[in-house]
Amino acid sequence: MTAPLLDIRDLRISFRGRDGTWAEALCGIDLSLEPGKVLGIVGESGSGKSIAMMAFLQLLPRGTRVEGSARFRGEELIGMAPARIRRIRGKAIGCIFQDPLSAFNPVKTLGAQIVEAITLHDRAISNRAALKEAERLFELVAIPQPARRVRQYPHEFSGGMRQRAMIAMALANRPDLLIADEPTTALDVTVQAQILELLADLRRELGIGMVLITHDLGVVAGIADEIAVMYGGSVVERGATDPIFYQTSHPYTAGLIGAVPTLDSRGTLQQIEGTPPSIFSRPPGCSFHPRCPRAGAPCRIETPCLLPQGDTACACHFPLSRLEPVT
Ligand code: SF4
Repeated sequence: MTAPLLDIRDLRISFRGRDGTWAEALCGIDLSLEPGKVLGIVGESGSGKSIAMMAFLQLLPRGTRVEGSARFRGEELIGMAPARIRRIRGKAIGCIFQDPLSAFNPVKTLGAQIVEAITLHDRAISNRAALKEAERLFELVAIPQPARRVRQYPHEFSGGMRQRAMIAMALANRPDLLIADEPTTALDVTVQAQILELLADLRRELGIGMVLITHDLGVVAGIADEIAVMYGGSVVERGATDPIFYQTSHPYTAGLIGAVPTLDSRGTLQQIEGTPPSIFSRPPGCSFHPRCPRAGAPCRIETPCLLPQGDTACACHFPLSRLEPVT
């Protein structure tokens, strides 16, 4: 079996509230990714999917409590010295952020920003050679006229082209792992499809491992090898992509699948009633119980554990294939 590229064990993140009490935003998650594979992390806003990645990249605000382990190529990232994590972040681990307009510096050309990303990690390369590399990267992500466009500013690009430029920058130092946080959220559907196709091509051509974070199961359906569904700071279902879609066990996963619009939707979009819980007022037992159509008495008392259920692992007392509670 291949050693994992990324191995997260019992990762917990807590924030301190105004009254001084700590609240857990991430309640001990386990995830792992093999080299060259794609892991989709799916859930609504506030489920904890982005902060898990921000925690090991040390991008969370000071004072956040991070516990557990996140190993990248066997090296522990939690608690790593700032100088060392700066050598890994942007080099061995590339990031694609959700909104490239705010992620890029508006007063520098895109080429200059990619040059900066390259020269920061490679002191031997000249600015001229780094700019040539930026042009090559623009070509790789199918930005037309790369030699001209590297000299343009972010506002001169359309949303889709800006996202391609962001992907080019994330690839600048040939990372082994790419973290894409809602890379298609701000884009219209056709551009979204182009960006996903581009990510799938890059993964095939460059063999990069990828963590794709999204609230939309439809986005990961065609590209992810494995999917982890998160709710209320926990992984509630995890497995290979096909079983997640075709042998769904968790009612929340089923709700997310039902919410993906299809050609048969005929204008009626399904939704999961209610809203996700705040980390400061999470309900006892299963945190999904106030919204769950299958909730029973044990759900209000006991937090379900992630257990094998068919071909996935599922944290539910009444998974969809069972009527009796799992004990
Ligand atoms: Fe629903 Fe109960 Fe399962 Fe939670 S444990 S998802 S409330 S059935």
